[in-house]
Amino acid sequence: VSECIFCKIVAGELPSSKVYEDDTLLAFMDINPINEGHTLVIPKEHFVEMADMDEQTGMLLFQATLRLQRAIRDSGVPCEAINLFLADGEAAGQEVPHVHMHIFPRFKGDAFRVHYDWVSKQWPGREQLDATAAGIRNALEVQPGGATA
Ligand SMILES: [Zn+2]
Repeated sequence: VSECIFCKIVAGELPSSKVYEDDTLLAFMDINPINEGHTLVIPKEHFVEMADMDEQTGMLLFQATLRLQRAIRDSGVPCEAINLFLADGEAAGQEVPHVHMHIFPRFKGDAFRVHYDWVSKQWPGREQLDATAAGIRNALEVQPGGATA
């Protein structure tokens, strides 16, 4: 889509520091890296959310993610561990409406934090977990090619 900054990067209308490119995907450096080596992998086609994206593209996206995380670890940037982050939808923190996977190095003492109140949270009991699982199982069964167990 013409106003999408990631589509403009794919089209070469905006600059990017490319890491990987094939017919389906592009990977490039995040311009606001959490840590050095922070890489984004995107489908070249404009999909706003994961639900818009076909599974073949999704599989290729994750395959590239696996290869890239290994390359980041081997590249010499400070990297003791890796986080993947995919924000799907605005409420999840998605800022660019074009599916993108963040891959970024982590190391002890870095500044990245996930804020969540683990302490005062009331955890669900088994009955609630089972009910929630049943709801998700039911939804899975109505998907094309879904349904297992
Ligand atoms: Zn786009």
